[in-house]
Amino acid sequence: MKITNIKATTVTVPLEAPLRHSVGSHWGRFVRTIVEVETDEGIIGLGEMGGGGESTEAAINGLNAYLIGHDPLQLEQLYWKICNPTASLYNNRAQMHAAIGPCVGQCCYAVGDEVIDAFKSQFAYGAELFREVYDDDPVKKKYPLLFLTARAPGHSPIGPQTHLDLVAANRRQLLDAGLTAENIWSADLCTSCHPEKLFSHRAEHGFTGRTMGVVGVRAI
Ligand SMILES: [Zn+2]
Repeated sequence: MKITNIKATTVTVPLEAPLRHSVGSHWGRFVRTIVEVETDEGIIGLGEMGGGGESTEAAINGLNAYLIGHDPLQLEQLYWKICNPTASLYNNRAQMHAAIGPCVGQCCYAVGDEVIDAFKSQFAYGAELFREVYDDDPVKKKYPLLFLTARAPGHSPIGPQTHLDLVAANRRQLLDAGLTAENIWSADLCTSCHPEKLFSHRAEHGFTGRTMGVVGVRAI
């Protein structure tokens, strides 16, 4: 079963007398929004939310872009799909932020064809995550002849290495999941460039420790 349409309709109910509720009372009328979820099997779900009007209807109708084609029974996935687009309604605390911790940076992460192929096969934008980097070893720059002589005749100069940007790879997936760019924070700290601060498998050739990340919530 798949969602085919989500529709919001504001309704107002006239009241002859004030309607008391737990946080106050309504005078004259009260406003609700009826939310209809239509599916390709003809089953329609109905829900109701407080408040209404043009902006509420626009927010609910805006969910179509996220939810059409989704199985309405996959509730856990639905929750994550709508928690960001509805964050502005009622100041939803489920609004999601992401933090990308230190990792090996694109500066230091040369990878082989198997990694490049794996990324390109999984992500439409896979090719954008790689950059060609030419060897900038200062010794080779200063004494190019020493290294030129090491190459057999007919062989081309040492080609560029392909470096993977893991931060960009994570950022793109988070954006695809619905996070906004301003809610994605990155430490932008390369572990391989900073072995004095961080462990790095690559910089320390496998004889290294582990980095721990801690996430907390602060009262605001
Ligand atoms: Zn680096």
